[in-house]
Amino acid sequence: MNGDPFALRALLGPSAVLCRAALTGSHGVALPPLIDHHIHLHLIDESGFAAGGIAGVVDLGGDPVALARRPLDHIPRLAYAGAILTPRGGYPTGRTWAPDTIWREVTDSSLHPGIAGGAATAVQEQATFGAAVIKVALHAGTAAFDAMTLGAIVEVAHENSLPVVAHVQGEGMLRLALDAQVDVLAHTPFSEALTPDLVGECVEAGQQWISTLDIHRDDPAAISHATQNLTTFAAAGGHVLYGTDLGNGDLPVGINVREVAAMNAAGIQGSALIDTLIDAWPYNDALAGVATFVPGDPPASIEHIPRWLANATVVPHEELVHDD
Ligand SMILES: [Zn+2]
Repeated sequence: MNGDPFALRALLGPSAVLCRAALTGSHGVALPPLIDHHIHLHLIDESGFAAGGIAGVVDLGGDPVALARRPLDHIPRLAYAGAILTPRGGYPTGRTWAPDTIWREVTDSSLHPGIAGGAATAVQEQATFGAAVIKVALHAGTAAFDAMTLGAIVEVAHENSLPVVAHVQGEGMLRLALDAQVDVLAHTPFSEALTPDLVGECVEAGQQWISTLDIHRDDPAAISHATQNLTTFAAAGGHVLYGTDLGNGDLPVGINVREVAAMNAAGIQGSALIDTLIDAWPYNDALAGVATFVPGDPPASIEHIPRWLANATVVPHEELVHDD
């Protein structure tokens, strides 16, 4: 299919363009900017993102004060949740990777700001520091939110036009998220194989799932559950976002080919796979000024796309000359 723009778009979707690098003349493929929808900046060195093909990131748990200080015009473009909202003693309090600047305990379902431990207080604090999403922890086995407190957090977040993304882990937590109208799951559910009916309910509710399959690569039960759940979710029309949970264990800064390959194996392929990478969520507007450039020949087939993406880099838009 080398050099055929129609075959290229059949494989990668309407946004893929054959192009050349203006400076070197080397040919390749341009795509919109690629986004990792689940990372933790405070745990990694962000200098490798552009060379590794990632132009935008979503921090799902960090110090809101530090995040608010970061310059807005940097690559990768950043969207963030600020601190993770959790019940008293809930996840991730006490974890070594989670200093107390990155979580807030919510102990009161109050919808009025200014109350210590109140739902509105915690949401408003993140919003004030520039959060684009609100993150909650729903972790069975530790302290868990009651439906009223979680409902209050979601209500205030939605009043502020902020989607709510949940860390969901363990029995009953997906039910809690669904009943509270949580918008996004930070991870494909991995602690159990869900029934098709329950997955269907998630699709029906318009939930979006951030993939994060590769963090389970050394846990056969978790990777098996997550792959099965994501396969069912995607096949039923569920909206999937590429995300790695970068900062959790040993993961590459930049595009994670293992994550993309695992999504491909879950049936998210071709243009559907590219869509999970170029989705601007939680922003409405695509990142301007930069593009993804993958030098060399386009992928020969669907199965080659994950490995082909390993060579993706972020380049200024004007450095690319379109061939078609
Ligand atoms: Zn995370």
